Order: sequence, then C-alpha cells, then structure tokens
Amino acid sequence: MMTTRLETCACFCGAITAEIQGEPFWICYDHDDDCRRAIGSPLTIWVGYKTSQFQLKRGKPKAFSKTRGVSRTFCSNCGTSIGYSDEGIAGEIYLTLGFFDHPEHFPPAAHAYWQLKLPWIEFADKLPPY
Ligand SMILES: [Zn+2]
Repeated sequence: MMTTRLETCACFCGAITAEIQGEPFWICYDHDDDCRRAIGSPLTIWVGYKTSQFQLKRGKPKAFSKTRGVSRTFCSNCGTSIGYSDEGIAGEIYLTLGFFDHPEHFPPAAHAYWQLKLPWIEFADKLPPY
C-alpha cells in the first residue's frame, strides 16, 4: 500500500503547528549571513516544499520582510523561526529544520552560500558547496 509521506511541525511553545504532505524538493545547509542573523544560528538548514504541500494546523505565524519580496515567518509568542518565501520563487516555501517534529528525517544534500561559511565550522561530509 502506498502512503503519502506526512511530516508534522511545531514551534517551541506549540502555538503554531503545521503538516506537510509528500516529499521535499530541497534540503540544504545555508551559510548565508542574512539567514544567520534572522535565525540567530551560525547556519541554517532549509527544507523546501511546494506551498500546496504545506498546511497550517494551528495558529498564524507573524511575517517580517527586510528584503523586497522576501518574507520570513516566526511565532510571535516564542520566536521560533518557521519559514522563508520569496516572490521570485513563488509557489515554494522553505521551512527551518528546527520547526519539524522529526528533523532527523531531513539529511541535507548540499551547502548553499559556502563562501559565507564561518571559518571555524568544519564538515566531514563531501556534499557539493555552491
Ligand atoms: Zn511558539
């Protein structure tokens, strides 16, 4: 029997929950400095889906935009970073690894913005940097 993959998500306080159906098309480390500051972490792992796969189950994230066309969402109660979307890639949503109930399901496939990686972070993987 074929079953559709279902992943569940929640912020730190639990006010915002979501479900995602199907496979992500993108799982990637991100060493970008904008994301570093927005997330508050030395690097980020984004999991990308089509917005049609994503469904909020509880609560409503707050959105913030600094770069035109780019929206970052977070829980206004506990501050958990949730998603990233960009008008230039409409129809796609990128979710922070930490928002997932099972982050171990999402091994990254590559390193984005490798040139912005902090110098004291080292990886034993052989994933392609770009
Ligand atoms: Zn929260």
